[in-house]
Amino acid sequence: MQSSSFDATIHERLSALGQRVLHGGRIDREEALWLFQLEDTADIFELMAWANRIREHYKGNKIHLCSIVNAKAGACSENCSFCAQSAFHQTASPRYGFVDPEPVVAAAEEANRHGVTAVGLVAAWKGLKEGPMLDEVCDRIAELKATGKTRPDASLGLIKSQTVADRLKSAGLECYGHNLESSRRFFPQTCTTHTFDDRLETIGYLKKAGIKICSGGIIGMGETREDRCDLALSLREIGANVCPINILNPIPGTPFEKLTPLPPMEILKTIACFRFVLPRQEIMIAGGRTINLRDLQSMIFAAGASALMVGNYLTTLNQSVEKDLQMLKDLGLDPNWEGHDFADQAEGGCGCGEKTCETAAVSA
Ligand code: SF4
Repeated sequence: MQSSSFDATIHERLSALGQRVLHGGRIDREEALWLFQLEDTADIFELMAWANRIREHYKGNKIHLCSIVNAKAGACSENCSFCAQSAFHQTASPRYGFVDPEPVVAAAEEANRHGVTAVGLVAAWKGLKEGPMLDEVCDRIAELKATGKTRPDASLGLIKSQTVADRLKSAGLECYGHNLESSRRFFPQTCTTHTFDDRLETIGYLKKAGIKICSGGIIGMGETREDRCDLALSLREIGANVCPINILNPIPGTPFEKLTPLPPMEILKTIACFRFVLPRQEIMIAGGRTINLRDLQSMIFAAGASALMVGNYLTTLNQSVEKDLQMLKDLGLDPNWEGHDFADQAEGGCGCGEKTCETAAVSA
């Protein structure tokens, strides 16, 4: 519950923070943490109303849709505790090697039919090194780009050299998915075969190559609200362009199989808090939304989400694309974001609200 040590009412403080973000300013860690700690349902609805307003201010009624094709499944050498594809866990997840061109092109065509902006190639392995596999990956990316039907993205694990990132960029890759998963503090409880810093290093190579960053995490893994807050702040620090929020669907056979799912209002509050911390970024709701939010699924947009992973997201089933498109139509939202180039994410101004201000936004 709210502590009495704050010097303003919750309503006034929410308004002040909301106004500041709307005018180009930032919230700091203490302010963000306060938002993440809100508990009263009425306060959460007020928070969501501001988050929705912020989304509309920066995104209008556009919703960015992504889809993925699982290019290599299962038997991964890493021990991520949430993941059905780890070789460390006994799960029913399928296993297959790197895909041929046909399924990738078919995925692009299907995505195009549904107005999906980007298709990502996703592989369950530790990472990508120079060699024949990199050549093959670059071929698939170039083929995807050549269809002219989608933006080619990828999520292919850790990268340990600038050369690999540069090769991906030359093949036509525009955006790379690499989640931070959680806060630096909580990360070792999700995985011990690689580190938070390995992930930051990968993101560094990608950024240097000029590739946009899709990075977010998973909530509901037993982390605290402070961990969620620090994840959002880390994403702001690395300059992520798309921030996927996955909601854990505890999969039998994984170490997290017995975790209690997060309550839907806690999930919606988390989305709204991310919008306050990351006002211009695409906040994408990805795996686990259907199973965890149930009837409240359409409220993710009222909570500030501006992007949606559609189709069957890896090992977690979402509702059908047709149902998602109907949901967006019913909400008056537009998923046709052709030529989405992240130009709307450029920051300007210090939060003073003056259109002419060129000072970089700073923490208040
Ligand atoms: S999350 Fe990625 S790296 Fe971790 S086990 Fe699953 S496929 Fe492997």
